[in-house]
Amino acid sequence: MVKVDVKYTKLFINNEWVDAVSKKTFPTINPQDETVIAQVAEADKADVDLAVAAAKKAFARYSPWRLMDASRRGLLMLKLAELIESQARYLAELETLDCGKPVKDAEEEVYYAATVLRYYAGKADKILGNTIPADGEVMSFTLKEPVGVCGQIIPWNYPIPMISWKIAPALAAGCTIVLKPAEQTPLTALAVAALIKEAGFPPGVVNVLPGYGPTAGAALTHHPDVDKIAFTGSTEVGRIILGAASAVNLKRITLELGGKSPLVVFNDADVEKAAQIAHAAAFANAGQCCCAGTRTYVQSGIYDQFVKKAAEIASKRSVGNPFENVQQGPQIDQDMYTKVLSYITAGKEGGAKCVAGGDKVGDKGFYIKPTVFADVTDNMKIAREEIFGPVQSILKFDTFEEVIDRANDTNYGLGAGVITNDITTALSFAKQVRAGSIWVNTYDHTPSQTPFGGFKDSGLGRELGEDGINQYLETKTVTLALPKQPQL
Ligand code: NAD
Repeated sequence: MVKVDVKYTKLFINNEWVDAVSKKTFPTINPQDETVIAQVAEADKADVDLAVAAAKKAFARYSPWRLMDASRRGLLMLKLAELIESQARYLAELETLDCGKPVKDAEEEVYYAATVLRYYAGKADKILGNTIPADGEVMSFTLKEPVGVCGQIIPWNYPIPMISWKIAPALAAGCTIVLKPAEQTPLTALAVAALIKEAGFPPGVVNVLPGYGPTAGAALTHHPDVDKIAFTGSTEVGRIILGAASAVNLKRITLELGGKSPLVVFNDADVEKAAQIAHAAAFANAGQCCCAGTRTYVQSGIYDQFVKKAAEIASKRSVGNPFENVQQGPQIDQDMYTKVLSYITAGKEGGAKCVAGGDKVGDKGFYIKPTVFADVTDNMKIAREEIFGPVQSILKFDTFEEVIDRANDTNYGLGAGVITNDITTALSFAKQVRAGSIWVNTYDHTPSQTPFGGFKDSGLGRELGEDGINQYLETKTVTLALPKQPQL
């Protein structure tokens, strides 16, 4: 077992490390062997109150943060990106320990997070309003102002990228932040907090509070001094948060929620390449990806060949110790492990044909075999519900119109993919499928520059790109009366 030094386990408030007011801690568990990695301070309402007060003070008029030149904000973010990269291996190992993802994937994610910070660092001093031509007796212009204190609640599947998606646009806009990492993966958020301090951000600009959803998370979403909530996680919790965010004050809100994304392979595709793309779409991060392409629709002309190939690739996927050179580590925790295995049972009992995997791996740790079901039909549980594990469902289709209707027959709308060499098919698909991201001959490509988010029950608002920063800005219109008579 690789030894990783856990340096930070306390709450990070006002650039200080503090115990929870209650002095409570909670264990964070290693998904490889179910042992306790560390006890972490457990934030609750009292700690949220302190952190929000610090964020509010940091946002007050004439505070160092509000007086700071926007280009200087950008420089601090660049410094943070540099510090994060300088610790890439350490952060990746810490992530692997806490989250179970292969360390090489974790390391790529650290570099990716740095690119997101750099992208938004460049935007910090380019936030512009409009001038609006004189209209009769008035002249107007708009100011783009930071929303204020932001509560940011993130999941466990991509902890470091999620930190960057949340804090980068908020910092560029000039907001202040209280971030609550998922209870399963608090460690890298605390390690990044230490780098935030080292980069030179003023106290209170970013506060990090590990804790549970119904306590710390709920206190944040109900807090009257929080102006905005940004959340990534389940649709179920997203609904709760939407209610909470409007209960006390009307918080601005962005929600990145679940999905059951279709990936459609047409007859003209190269079967080998298509099966590889579909495999990555379904199994990346052990299937623990909100936009995972888990409904693989394959046109009848290549269906049998495709199923054979998909099963072959999945059977060869290496699963094991994430510190070694494997493609897949354990699932995040006991709950998700049990849930995913129950979906596999439901697939078998529901009549789908299990052509690869279909079982757990070993008896220690939350490992599951990459599982492929063929002959799946639209009404089966495994075709309708988000599994969030290494399970691919393959469905057969005949015509373009049929598959569009079937792809859209879901309450979700996060991502969708199409594999074809026909540009008309690709563009018609892109136009007709109701989802926030459409990938053509690729999947789950989310660079900093392009907006990401969901239609329907997959979310509200967008992250990344220009849209991402707009979610942290208010538009203020300033209107001046012009003289009604000649000026003498
Ligand atoms: P979750 O929605 O329960 O938790 C996500 C975050 O929300 C965590 O930080 C959690 O502490 C917090 N939270 C939970 N209840 C809360 C509440 N009442 N108020 C405020 N915050 C609260 O998700 P999960 O348990 O991590 O995963 C369960 C399911 O979520 C998965 O099966 C998957 O469907 C979905 N999920 C989606 C994404 C995504 O990127 N869209 C990521 C992770 C999980």
